[in-house]
Amino acid sequence: MLSHEADLLNRARFRPETPVLPQAERAGVLLPLPLAGPYDYKLPPGVNAPRGTLVAAPLGNRESLGVVWGAAEGTVGDNRLKTAEPLEGLPRLPASLCDFIDWVSAYTLNPPGAILAMALRSRGAFEPEARRIAYIKGDTVPTRMSEARKRVLAVAEDGLARSVPGLAEDANVSTAVVRGLIAAGALKPTDLPEFAPFREPEPEYAAPELNGDQARAADTLRWAVAAPAFSAHLLDGVTGSGKTEVYFEAVAEALRQNKQVLILLPEIALTIQFLERFAARFGTRPAEWHSDLTQKERRRTYRAVMKGEARVVVGARSSLFLPFASLGLVIVDEEHEQAFKQQDGAIYHARDMAVVRARTENCPVILASATPSLESFVNATGGRYSHLKLKSRHGVAALPEVRIIDLRREKDSDDNAKWLSPSLRGALEQTLAASEQALLFLNRRGYAPLTLCEACGHKFTCPHCSAWLVEHRYRKRLACHQCGYEIAAPTECPACKAQGTLIACGPGVERVAEEFAHFFPSARYAIASSDILHGPAETQAAIRAFARREIDVLIGTQIIAKGHHFPQLTLVGVIDADLGGADGDLRARERTFQLLHQVSGRAGRAEKPGLVLLQTRNPADAVMQALAKSDRDGFYEQERSHRERVAAPPFGRLAAIVVSGYDAEQVREIARQLGKAAPAVKDVRVWGPTPAFYALLRGQTRERLLVQAAKGVDVQAYLRAWLKLVKIPTTVRATVDVDPISFF
Ligand code: ADP
Ligand code: ZN
Repeated sequence: MLSHEADLLNRARFRPETPVLPQAERAGVLLPLPLAGPYDYKLPPGVNAPRGTLVAAPLGNRESLGVVWGAAEGTVGDNRLKTAEPLEGLPRLPASLCDFIDWVSAYTLNPPGAILAMALRSRGAFEPEARRIAYIKGDTVPTRMSEARKRVLAVAEDGLARSVPGLAEDANVSTAVVRGLIAAGALKPTDLPEFAPFREPEPEYAAPELNGDQARAADTLRWAVAAPAFSAHLLDGVTGSGKTEVYFEAVAEALRQNKQVLILLPEIALTIQFLERFAARFGTRPAEWHSDLTQKERRRTYRAVMKGEARVVVGARSSLFLPFASLGLVIVDEEHEQAFKQQDGAIYHARDMAVVRARTENCPVILASATPSLESFVNATGGRYSHLKLKSRHGVAALPEVRIIDLRREKDSDDNAKWLSPSLRGALEQTLAASEQALLFLNRRGYAPLTLCEACGHKFTCPHCSAWLVEHRYRKRLACHQCGYEIAAPTECPACKAQGTLIACGPGVERVAEEFAHFFPSARYAIASSDILHGPAETQAAIRAFARREIDVLIGTQIIAKGHHFPQLTLVGVIDADLGGADGDLRARERTFQLLHQVSGRAGRAEKPGLVLLQTRNPADAVMQALAKSDRDGFYEQERSHRERVAAPPFGRLAAIVVSGYDAEQVREIARQLGKAAPAVKDVRVWGPTPAFYALLRGQTRERLLVQAAKGVDVQAYLRAWLKLVKIPTTVRATVDVDPISFF
């Protein structure tokens, strides 16, 4: 028990001043571990510990952080209970956060402790805050005065707190002189917090003049924030229409009301750009919360959020579980983004949970997007959410013209042209001649998605996953995009040993770049994909270089598709508009539409008009047509009635169970047993088991079962009852995904 951690917990213990009471109190304490529920603990005599109280709870031969969750169950005898000791110096977790954790746990079928772990994810945030002792001028005038002493007191005149060495240095005296003044009472100690405080954003710092649509939307949102009550709003406006400016008005109102604000963004790369934009509007940056923070930054932010001092937090999905002292507004920007779905560990959709969090906090939630999820669109058009529309781009910018290039018809005279059609090359030429910029979009990393042997047909696949190995020519490697397995680019076929027979099939961004360089040797271009740009900082640097016009053409994947604003970008070429449309999954069309719409939205954001060229082999496809005619709502209506017909979400409910493990036979056996055990219930159908899309992933065999239920069915209750019927060995995992959004 002499470890550092135990020592800290010891110091943090609450020592009641009140006399010892005869009867020990008990409580149910939730630990941040995937256990079934809270455990009973004793509390120190006389301690009152309501729900949310942070405690140090003995667990085996160590101590764990825990949270008082409710009344004890009382089935364990008093003498066998251990004592949990409340931590001193920290607020409780807000009861609304505890309620939220319970809700998420019940909805996602994860143990509450697993969800609590996400809410306590800041190592060290609960240790006592270190104080720094510093000195300021005291009230006593020393009886003996020397030149050295005078200098020290002159330095201290400004009222700033300084350490002993700091004062000695500033006054150019020895530390003994300073200590003498302290002993004489001429300097007095004061303590400073360990961390510098967050600056307050100023609501009136740089408020813009809003246009008509914007002002109407902002009014509704300000009223909602001032109410204060739960309400949900879909801020639905084309790219560049000023959605951010509008929701900033709601943020300003929350600041005036002394409330905290949470802004969720789908990606860290977007967060960095967002901070500057926020500072331009509110005079200071917001607090950040995402995986790129250091331990120390996390600790500082977590505590400041808990004490209500961090007023606005911008973060990734994990920030949903922060212990806000008085949350008054939640915003989800780019709410349709798939990245909001957490796919590993506890599976949840941060957009949906953001709505729930707002409800438990009794405050409004704003979902913003130019291409809302169909769920939000249905909620807004059906009247459950207010539907705030911004119909046009702000200022002079017009929406770009979208043209379809039918690849079946474009005959190419040039043998070197594989991926850039004559029309696209012509448009690129014009753009470059006019000294404007272009973006070539292909949502596929690397050089080629498949390598095969011309002689024997051998395909290079991953030994651990049911996936092809993708060639990365820059790095001279073949890589699995699922598990990271890599080999050096081969020169002979491992199956038939032939030399020089391996051919690259299909394009990735590197291959498009190669072809571009062939046709436009003097143009400056850069590839933007996650394996070439390492981390948010490099991505940001590439985006800056493009914005500063150091690059003419950016060739990239979806990492550059969103949120960015390039005034000189007038041409967007979509290399393969059909990619992602044909995988048979329920949301494939919606997703393709959203992605292509977002990419298109990068063109012509300033005075110069934009042009978007979609290369496709399915020009008649509804997605292509809707994009070309810029008939977004028509597309959504079509998609809505299709889902309604087949009772798919949001008109019905889905849940998936993925059974996985290293022993293929065992996995299939458990999946079979689950399939057989599925209770027969009205309005519920169970499909499968069938091999998952990635039937092998990181060496694990995967089988899927899919539950389809009518809207009113309690799917969670069904799943809970069902999972109790099959004993699942520890070597097999059954992962539940309520409301799955992809089907791999
Ligand atoms: P969205 O979030 O809908 O894509 P933004 O809020 O980013 O749109 O606005 C696009 C651009 O137009 C930004 O540069 C923004 O500052 C500017 N803008 C939007 N509305 C106004 C306004 N009322 N006054 C001044 N600039 C505006
Ligand atoms: Zn793999």
